[in-house]
Amino acid sequence: MTQMNYTDKKKPTRVAIISNGKYQSKRIAGKLFAIFKDADNFYLTKRDPDVVISIGGDGMLLSAFHMYEKALDHVRFVGIHTGHLGFYTDYRDFEVDKLIENLRQDKGESISYPIVKVKITLADGRVIKGRALNESTIKRIEKTMVADVVINKVKFERFRGDGLSVSTPTGSTAYNKSLGGAILHPTIEALQLTEISSLNNRVYRTIGSSLIIPRKDAIEVVPKRLGVYTISIDNKTMQYRNVKKIEYSIDSKKIHFVATPSHTSFWERVMDAFIGECDS
Ligand code: NAP
Repeated sequence: MTQMNYTDKKKPTRVAIISNGKYQSKRIAGKLFAIFKDADNFYLTKRDPDVVISIGGDGMLLSAFHMYEKALDHVRFVGIHTGHLGFYTDYRDFEVDKLIENLRQDKGESISYPIVKVKITLADGRVIKGRALNESTIKRIEKTMVADVVINKVKFERFRGDGLSVSTPTGSTAYNKSLGGAILHPTIEALQLTEISSLNNRVYRTIGSSLIIPRKDAIEVVPKRLGVYTISIDNKTMQYRNVKKIEYSIDSKKIHFVATPSHTSFWERVMDAFIGECDS
């Protein structure tokens, strides 16, 4: 947990409220607007907020992250989940009063997690940069993707298959998990490279398991065929023709969440999301 200096207690905290379209989310947004509108110590604004409250689920938090991606240095996020307990959402819909109280007591502390930096270089020299909170994937839909995987400047393998995913620790419970990747505790500063349907037979071989890559090592994926590649960054998907290479590394910036006294442990969230109640 770190103490940030950007919360000046003399000034009201600038708060942005972002909600998905669900009835329950809109209802909570309405309640928060009514409370903050008349509060001396808070100022409602979508421009340059100190705190972004996302109402919905983890998917909504992903959208809020991308909305305020350029302000990562000084913005903190807090999520209210209108369904089950989420991975990026600390409060449930019936805990709005608790959230308000915690924000009133807030001393600017935050919990921070790594994000992944993505740099796409096209054959025509164009460079596209992005950041992912969950993961970024590269796939070739029309034919088998053939690409060299380079880790820390060493050619590791020639991959053949549908594609590859590079996830953050907090993204490890999302698409990465469905791909058979490991769940990584978010305090571990590492990326996870996971295969999407690799071709493995007597002729073609890949490592087969996902790799946990430390902060100091960059990952490069170098496609060996011309064609159209589908690249995703969290909930956004783009198509590029003739990708020369795509580089992944841990970003120098992190995502900051408002520290909450009742922060639920990561393993409790994993259990709640994937195990639930079962016979003992
Ligand atoms: P979506 O289809 O609306 O949501 C996908 C599901 O992933 C939702 O249930 C969402 O939870 C959950 N989720 C998001 N981030 C998570 C995390 N860090 N850990 C565990 N679950 C998480 O898609 P979306 O809202 O646009 O979100 C895009 C994300 O969906 C991608 O980043 C990718 O990780 C994930 N995805 C998963 C698969 C798969 O598992 N086969 C396929 C494609 C994409 P909430 O209900 O709380 O929003």
